[in-house]
Amino acid sequence: MDTCVFCKIARKELPSHVVYEDDRFLAFLDIHPQSPGHVQVIPKEHHRWVWDVPDAGAYFEIAKKVALAQRAAFGTDWILSKTVGDEVPHAHIWVFPNSGVAGDKMDFEANAKKIRQHIS
Ligand SMILES: [Zn+2]
Repeated sequence: MDTCVFCKIARKELPSHVVYEDDRFLAFLDIHPQSPGHVQVIPKEHHRWVWDVPDAGAYFEIAKKVALAQRAAFGTDWILSKTVGDEVPHAHIWVFPNSGVAGDKMDFEANAKKIRQHIS
């Protein structure tokens, strides 16, 4: 969709701090983070809701990949996820460490780097 902000991020028309990317999915830092390293995992193709995404299993495997990297990057077992869907009308899964982890949530460069180092 031309006007969709997450489609624009997926097409690289808007900048983002990418932590994972493949041909179908993209994971990048949320610009209004709940905690350091707060990631949005989206399908590159536009779908309104998480439940509309084809191959939801593959989609959630990416969310898990991000969560496991966040665990290692921020030294915590407690990673939260949400699939509310009301903020941006493009499927997205919030994946973020609990707010007790160390680090500055606005230091996007450092937080993205930390997560990327642990993405397997
Ligand atoms: Zn979209």
